[in-house]
Amino acid sequence: MGGERARRLFTAVAIPGALAEEVLGRVKAGVPESGFRFPRPDGLHLTLHFLGDVEPGRIDALCRALERSLVRIPGPVDARLAGTGAFPRRGEERVLWAGVEARSGALEDLLAAALVGAEEAGFDVAEHRSRPFRPHVTVARPRGAARAPETFWSLDLSGTFRVEAVTLFESVPSERGPNRYVALRDFGLVRGDVEK
Ligand code: ATP
Ligand code: MG
Repeated sequence: MGGERARRLFTAVAIPGALAEEVLGRVKAGVPESGFRFPRPDGLHLTLHFLGDVEPGRIDALCRALERSLVRIPGPVDARLAGTGAFPRRGEERVLWAGVEARSGALEDLLAAALVGAEEAGFDVAEHRSRPFRPHVTVARPRGAARAPETFWSLDLSGTFRVEAVTLFESVPSERGPNRYVALRDFGLVRGDVEK
């Protein structure tokens, strides 16, 4: 009982490895490595719901609930990376990102299902539900006060990918380099053609 360390979890859409490598390669060509940190290509993702620290004893119930909620969502969803942006805003960037687009409402449906799953497993998602959803993939973060150069804003970070599942990730700190995002479980979307 107890004693096991909490795990830092989030649900997300994983970006396929080949596209992740390609896009990060383009970002590194447009942003000086001295002023920026880059995520690892393995684990590049579009965050849906950051759960934060979760007691290990709750993970099984969370997975069961996510499986039930996500299997109701028709897939696959065709998605694309498009455009560059920053949080909180250009000029004060803490996070540089590539935007993510799909047919209207499709990514919002994935988010809603991820939140329903977490809620059914007893997590409080009220605050998350009321937040604006800006689908994005973090591609770089400034070290200190570094500002994104003009070359970043004009980068072409476009690329298409197919979403067949939502993934529960664990964020694992690493002594050297960025956090490692480890995929714990994939929750498949229902095949959209099943009922036709
Ligand atoms: P670090 O915070 O140590 O610099 P990180 O941001 O890469 O590392 P985490 O903080 O564990 O790693 O975040 C994991 C994922 O969840 C990232 O995509 C991050 O943007 C997102 N995330 C983290 N905290 C929040 C939050 N409070 N709200 C929304 N998303 C978050
Ligand atoms: Mg963080």
